[in-house]
Amino acid sequence: MNADFTERIKESGLRLTQPRMKILEALNELDRPIGVYQLHDKMTEAKVNVNIVSIYRTLAAFQELGIVHYIPSQQGYLLCEAECRDDQQTEHLVCDQCGNVNELPIPTCATNDLKEQADSRGFRATKIRVEVSGICFECQKS
Ligand SMILES: [Zn+2]
Ligand SMILES: [Zn+2]
Repeated sequence: MNADFTERIKESGLRLTQPRMKILEALNELDRPIGVYQLHDKMTEAKVNVNIVSIYRTLAAFQELGIVHYIPSQQGYLLCEAECRDDQQTEHLVCDQCGNVNELPIPTCATNDLKEQADSRGFRATKIRVEVSGICFECQKS
């Protein structure tokens, strides 16, 4: 795992409790988004005592730090790959076949343009999520 993530959590003042650490580890093992209930099942399997509300709160805190992103089309959460400092602008490639999701590296391109367009209309964009659907490289080979 990106060691920087645990550093950033500590810097933010958020206590890295055992359940939070376990959530982070679980996300780190996945290359596709996971829903809150699935994550809760995983925690139960791992004998980590944490309820749904705490998982939601932890994910929200991680999102604020840019460690985790929510992928609307998959209704799941994914660990950041691009060292984001926040969750306000994200760009992901979503494979329709295997469900793999890849984050595009920063600097973000499409979301910057969208932000400019919003600004020019006096609209204060707080979150811009770009999802590109398609078939990933691996799936095209098979
Ligand atoms: Zn990111
Ligand atoms: Zn694929």
